[in-house]
Amino acid sequence: MRALPASLLAACGLIATACGGTDSGGAAAGQAARAAATTPAAAPASAPTQAKSQAHAKPQAVAGPLEGKTIVIDPGHNGGNYRNPTAINRKVNVLTKWKPCDTTGTETASHYTEAAFSWDVANRMVKILKARGAKVKLTRTDNNSVGPCITQRAAIGNKAKADAAISVHGDGAPAADHGFHVIMPKKINGPVDPVVADSSRLGVAVRDAFKKGTGLPYSTYIGSKALDYRNDLGGLNLSTVPKIFIECGNMRNAGEAAKFQDPAFRQRIAVALADGLQHYLKA
Ligand SMILES: [Zn+2]
Repeated sequence: MRALPASLLAACGLIATACGGTDSGGAAAGQAARAAATTPAAAPASAPTQAKSQAHAKPQAVAGPLEGKTIVIDPGHNGGNYRNPTAINRKVNVLTKWKPCDTTGTETASHYTEAAFSWDVANRMVKILKARGAKVKLTRTDNNSVGPCITQRAAIGNKAKADAAISVHGDGAPAADHGFHVIMPKKINGPVDPVVADSSRLGVAVRDAFKKGTGLPYSTYIGSKALDYRNDLGGLNLSTVPKIFIECGNMRNAGEAAKFQDPAFRQRIAVALADGLQHYLKA
């Protein structure tokens, strides 16, 4: 019974292409979880004493493929944002313009919210990426409070010196539109400039993994082959680490809404996004 302020929902849907438009923050075959933990070293046959000592050696954990990497995941709009329009409508400077601190995000026709979707996918990604050895940080700790602002969400990735950052969204476009797209930063004569090229590589890696892993089509309504470049998003403009947004699909489209409401499909999305991040980080 949450009454999402219509003006806010409209903002997300209209600008958006949405919801990417107003917030900061922003893909394959699943490599299974981390490889099995232990592999006792093989003992040389000709050295009994050495063989003995190795037999008693402590098994060594196999390093995950993302060991040493830090990933920041921004689960988009907080589920409590609708409760405090004053706070989330406060204007913040994103260098190319002033815009609201955040929005409520969109929702499906049956009221499954973008916030719930992003929060669930992000937490699934945390499990997958940690199992692969990465250090992972989220930009918020729950889905019931307000904010943080787009500016702060960018700052969290910067402070963590993330090797890659991703903001997870579902779009709110007209119902006939469908498909996913990735949003990458443009040079703005600002702090993001040095990471624009890497962000672009990250975006392509995630685009490819997302298509392969989810089977969702490229967006029919924005970008070229699911790639879009923008200079009006605080989460990108203010980032000093490689960062992208993913609009996983259109929550207002019945077919995509049904998929997003299916936990098994959200797991596919999470695995696909983790694969895209991994491909970028291991390239
Ligand atoms: Zn959004």
